Amino acid sequence: MHLENAKFCEVWRSNMRRIGVYPEQYMITTDAPTSRSLRARIPARECLGQSLVYCVISQRARGLSIGVNMNPDGLCNFDCVYCEVDRRKSSGDHNVDVARMRLELDQVLDLAMTGRLRDLPPFHVAPADLLELKEVALSGDGEPTLCPNFREVIEGVAHVRAAGRWPFFKIVLITNGTGLQLPHVRSGIEILTSYDEIWVKLDAGTQRGMDLVNRSDVRIETVLENIVNLGKERPIVIQSLFPLLRGEEPLPEEIDAYLERLKALHDAGAKIESIQVYSAHRPAIHPDCGHLPLKSLSKIARRVRDETGLNAEVF
Ligand code: SF4
Repeated sequence: MHLENAKFCEVWRSNMRRIGVYPEQYMITTDAPTSRSLRARIPARECLGQSLVYCVISQRARGLSIGVNMNPDGLCNFDCVYCEVDRRKSSGDHNVDVARMRLELDQVLDLAMTGRLRDLPPFHVAPADLLELKEVALSGDGEPTLCPNFREVIEGVAHVRAAGRWPFFKIVLITNGTGLQLPHVRSGIEILTSYDEIWVKLDAGTQRGMDLVNRSDVRIETVLENIVNLGKERPIVIQSLFPLLRGEEPLPEEIDAYLERLKALHDAGAKIESIQVYSAHRPAIHPDCGHLPLKSLSKIARRVRDETGLNAEVF
C-alpha cells in the first residue's frame, strides 16, 4: 500500500512538473446553470465564492475530484494557518442552493464522464489517468457541517448519483470534525453508503498545537469525541496537515501527543482506515506558513505506522 502510494506520488509529481502546472491550484467551474465558463490558471479558492461545483486534480484523491462548495458564505469555525480560502469574495448565502448545485454537478459530471474535460485548458495538458473521476467531494470554502441544509445537499448529490445518468461515483465528506455530533449532520451522514468516505481533520495532539495551527475556540476534546463516536459506526480517514510555522517544525512533544491521541482513538473503538500525512501547499499562502520537508512528513508517517499500527500515507 505504501509503495503503491509512493509510486503514485512520484508519477503524479513528475507528470505535474512535465506539464508545468500546480494542479490543486487550478479548477473549472460552472458559473450559471445555463452557461459554462472555464477559469483556467486561477487559484482554485478564488473561484469558489462564485460557483457551487468545481473540479480539481487532487493528489489525495489520486485523480479528478469534483467538489461541491458546502459553504458559499465561507463559514468556518477554524482559522487554519494554512487555509487558502479568500473569504472577501464569499457570498452571503448560508444555505446551498440545492437545485443549482444539482444542475452544476450534472454539467461538470457530463464534462468529466464524456472526456470533454480533457479538451479544456488547463486539463488539456493533464495525463489521461489523472482525469479519471475518483470522487465527488463535499467540501468548499468553509466547514461543511456548518452548512444549515447539510442533509438536503447530501440528498441532492445522492439523487444525482441515483439517477443513473453517470456511472456510480464515490462521495467523500471532508470535515474538520467539529459538527459531526449535530442532529442534521448525523441525519445527512446516514444517507452515505459504505462505499462513501468521511475524511476528518486532526492536525495536532494538544490544545496548544491546535490553537497554533487551527486557531479556533473549539476544544480538541470535542473533535476527538466526535471522531470516536463516528468512527465506531463507520470507518473514517484522518487528514493531518503539519505546516512549517515561521520556519519551525512541529515540536517533538507535539508529535508524541498526536501519536498518543491516535492510539487513544483506536483503543476507544474508532475504525481508522488510514491517515493522510501532508503539509501546506507550495508556494505558501501565508508568509508564516511553509511546507514541511518530505523527510519530516515521512518520519511522522513511519512513527504512526510503527507506534499505532495504523496505516499512514504521505501526500
Ligand atoms: S477547516 Fe478548512 S476551511 Fe476552515 S480554516 Fe481550516 S482549512 Fe480553511
